Amino acid sequence: MINGSCLCGAVTYTVSGTIGEITHCHCKTCRKAHGSAFSSVASVQDSDFHLLNKDQLKSYESSTGKHRYFCSNCGSQIYAKRQDTAHIILRLGSLDSDIDSPEKEHIWVSEKANWYCINSQLPERDN
Ligand SMILES: [Zn+2]
Ligand SMILES: [Zn+2]
Repeated sequence: MINGSCLCGAVTYTVSGTIGEITHCHCKTCRKAHGSAFSSVASVQDSDFHLLNKDQLKSYESSTGKHRYFCSNCGSQIYAKRQDTAHIILRLGSLDSDIDSPEKEHIWVSEKANWYCINSQLPERDN
């Protein structure tokens, strides 16, 4: 079983099943939401994602139909969810467990912070 939590520990979850390939998203909304150069994410099927404690969980609709879920006590980003999909977009920095999913690509490189230099052999996409 894979476990994850927010910084303060108020939000906890487990993942059963597999975590998808890892994407590093450099879009402006991810940079703002995470306060970092990019956000590392992977998809998890809804049926494999289990919130254990979610009293402090809040969401923000950063673009139409896309909600970003975070802990309202400590601010940790936990996952995002697009309407009418059967998966969540897990924020991998919230994991407590090791995973063996492979890295796939950098996306939204067109909005990358100019002070960050991508230093990998992974493919880069502009959106
Ligand atoms: Zn928290
Ligand atoms: Zn993004």
